[in-house]
Amino acid sequence: MTIPSDKDALTPMMQQYFSVRNSLPDDTVLLFRLGDFYELFYRDAEVASSILDITLTRRQNYPMAGIPYHAAENYIGRLLAAGKKVAICEQVENPALAKGIVKRKLTRILTPGTTMEDSQVDARHQHYILSFFTDKRGIHASWLDLTTGTFCIASAIELFDMLAIFHALRPREILVPEMAFDSWKEIVAREHHGAYAQLLNFVETCPYTRIPEYHFEPAFAVKMILETLGVLNLQGFGISLDNPSLCPAGALLQYVTETLCSKPENLRKLTEYNPKNRLLIDPATQRNLEIFRSTQGARDGSLIAAMDATVTSQGARLLENFLSNIVLDLPEILRRQNCVGHFLDNPGMLHELRETLRTVRDMERILSRLENHLCYPREIGAIRDTVNVLPEIHRLLKEFSGEEIEQLKQRIGHFDDLRELFAKALSDTVSGKIEDGGIIRDGYDERLDYLRGLTSDSKNWIANMQQKEIERTGIRSLKIKYNNAFGYFIEVSKSNLSLVPEDYIRRQTTVNGERFYTAELKEKEKEILSAEQKIQEREQTLFDLLTKQVLEHVDGLRSTAQTLCEMDVFCGWAKLAREWNYVKPIIDGSDVIEIRQGRHPVVEMMISRQALGLSNTFSFVPNDTVLASSEEQIALLTGPNMAGKSTYIRQVALIAYMAHVGAWVPAASCRLGLIDRIFSRVGASDELSRGNSTFMVEMNETANILNNATAKSLIILDEIGRGTSTYDGMSIAWAVAEYLHDAFPEGGPKTLFATHYHELTQLEKSLPRLCNYSVLVKEWNDEIIFLRQVVRGAADRSYGIQVARLAGLPQTVINRAKVLLAELEGDSTNSNVSVMTGAEKQKTAVTSENKRKVDATAGEPEASREKQLKQQTPIGKLEVRHLPTPDNEKSQLELF
Ligand code: ADP
Ligand code: MG
Repeated sequence: MTIPSDKDALTPMMQQYFSVRNSLPDDTVLLFRLGDFYELFYRDAEVASSILDITLTRRQNYPMAGIPYHAAENYIGRLLAAGKKVAICEQVENPALAKGIVKRKLTRILTPGTTMEDSQVDARHQHYILSFFTDKRGIHASWLDLTTGTFCIASAIELFDMLAIFHALRPREILVPEMAFDSWKEIVAREHHGAYAQLLNFVETCPYTRIPEYHFEPAFAVKMILETLGVLNLQGFGISLDNPSLCPAGALLQYVTETLCSKPENLRKLTEYNPKNRLLIDPATQRNLEIFRSTQGARDGSLIAAMDATVTSQGARLLENFLSNIVLDLPEILRRQNCVGHFLDNPGMLHELRETLRTVRDMERILSRLENHLCYPREIGAIRDTVNVLPEIHRLLKEFSGEEIEQLKQRIGHFDDLRELFAKALSDTVSGKIEDGGIIRDGYDERLDYLRGLTSDSKNWIANMQQKEIERTGIRSLKIKYNNAFGYFIEVSKSNLSLVPEDYIRRQTTVNGERFYTAELKEKEKEILSAEQKIQEREQTLFDLLTKQVLEHVDGLRSTAQTLCEMDVFCGWAKLAREWNYVKPIIDGSDVIEIRQGRHPVVEMMISRQALGLSNTFSFVPNDTVLASSEEQIALLTGPNMAGKSTYIRQVALIAYMAHVGAWVPAASCRLGLIDRIFSRVGASDELSRGNSTFMVEMNETANILNNATAKSLIILDEIGRGTSTYDGMSIAWAVAEYLHDAFPEGGPKTLFATHYHELTQLEKSLPRLCNYSVLVKEWNDEIIFLRQVVRGAADRSYGIQVARLAGLPQTVINRAKVLLAELEGDSTNSNVSVMTGAEKQKTAVTSENKRKVDATAGEPEASREKQLKQQTPIGKLEVRHLPTPDNEKSQLELF
């Protein structure tokens, strides 16, 4: 913003305003404190009035708007939500005592990624700000969560891997180096679908700020980091000073320091993120498996929602952290599993412990605010309340046994001295702001007690005066009142004005009467206000002292807070495990995934919710899974639409995922070796919502899988190739399956491959590590019944018409389709239907005759395949030998 040309004409206050305003970028709105209001001027006033719907006024020709100080939090939140940054300029001296113009100072700039105020951060989510740059070695990034003090770097990481990490972090704000950012844009303009396009797309879906390149200078960055962490080098963190990701880390710190208007005080540790010991889940897979959000975009229906039985917001946050940052650390996984086990052993006490945890407050974030001088009195109250439940938590923990519980207990402090201090110093209910008073308990501080005595005496004095004046003047309705603008005054209604005595001095006329004061009242007012001022100052001093004493325990309090979060997550998992019959998975160094009676954690919950009140025949059908890199590496799953293919292959991935997080899983038993990545692709038409170039995206991501999968990966492919013409799609799917098999002669990535291309079942003959599976359906009087049971062997046909009928297609259409199908089937017996075999590998083997036929039946290409498959696998020959499912097997088979 520019200063008006006649600068000298500005009042001293407006000159002060402009000196602050001009130090800020244009996208920032400045709130300028004037008494009980934050005022906005010029463009800021216009912007704010349209976002906040507040009145725009004019003062000496410039626009102006104001928001009341006490309601500022709400308004600030709305400005932030509208994508604005909000700078706050406060009065830093008492206006009553100021000589000349009141001193003011920029105290804070709130931005989406650096706010830490309670009302502006989502209690249940992590709150990261992220920065990065790229060079030949890859991408170098840094991210930090100011609300918890988490500070990480990751260097020289491949772009696709980094995208996986970024997506899981879900930052609130991103800082990009401005020149580099422009050059990425140029790259993307040339090649639309590469990793840079995804990167740019990712940045642009988040609020981002362009930062000058020099903030990324190594020397500048290192200085910034060492100063902020208060260390001489980074050896203690195992990080060398030439680590390239220190550059974005430095840029972040510079930015955060500017927005806090002082150095962040709660960053103690820098952690290097190593993707090699992480289970990486790329963005498409996170979406497909609905880890953090369902396909509809809601948390409800996602895996995290199904795994979340936490009772505190910080517990929910830790769960999010566990899911977004899976460390392949067997001892840690076992520790988590065992904690769940111990909590599960004592259900009665588990319930009580969870109820007690419910009362625990968000100490982790409060401590961060405390360290950055952003803490309100009520938050000290929250620390007091939390410290007060610790003895009860220790008592309850004694009811659980196990080494891991013992370790948890040791990390939860007792803080007897703090508890004592709080009991003496803090009032029972602590209000939001110092100005509201009443924070410090009576009897804690002699001077405060004395001052409080003075004001309460004075207030009595005012009450007496009112009585006296009523008697003196005979005005029965006379009142002595107070407001911030005029102080104490005597209010007389219109009808009584004739009775007003000589010595009353007129102050203001209102609609209903007039307001007066007397010399005596003014004198008393001064006394009261100065006492109140002194009380506030004294309370502030005492509160600061108390804060300091709390901060002496900050490390102990923080690790206690973190341990309470862990307990919350584990207790939640124990509750879920009991409720839904989960088991502790066995994780080892093997190359297998063996699941007995596995279920889909989300679908199972959904079905049982729907079934509430209905008969219990409507329940989730469990299925077994056996995969091994070197034996049954690829499970090729066929079956009609709606049979349950997608659900089944996802359930295997989700169970593996949950196991790596350290949770228990929905199965009767489960054993698996550590996995390095989970990949998943869904055929384009299953993901229509994602825009038009879906086939390109699908292929891009399939390429990513083929290039990055290892023998330790798990791959879920659902109807790939669907986004293009039948033969193209089938050929691609075929070649992908072969590649996943042949590129890994010693044993490849464990793969679940659901497809509606029944031709692919032929692969079983040529690929020894590929096995056919199908989902059973029962045909009954021209209708089908879905049995949801996965069995060994290929599906016989696709039952498209029956499914269409279930979907409610009119009977005439169904009848006509049947006729057509019969015709086509008759037709195809004569034609030379080409079924790809191992001998024809690499060739897509599409005869022109077939091509013509498919074209002719466009819209129902499945029909032409029906016949072929019928010939291959008559339904009676389905094998069920491989997957014994004791309870289901019998009953299901009897149906046939
Ligand atoms: P497909 O991919 O074969 O078309 P889906 O996996 O989408 O089929 O499943 C269709 C529906 O069947 C799902 O919405 C789900 O509610 C139900 N379903 C799937 N698997 C099971 C199961 N094992 N038990 C009960 N219902 C299931
Ligand atoms: Mg499906």
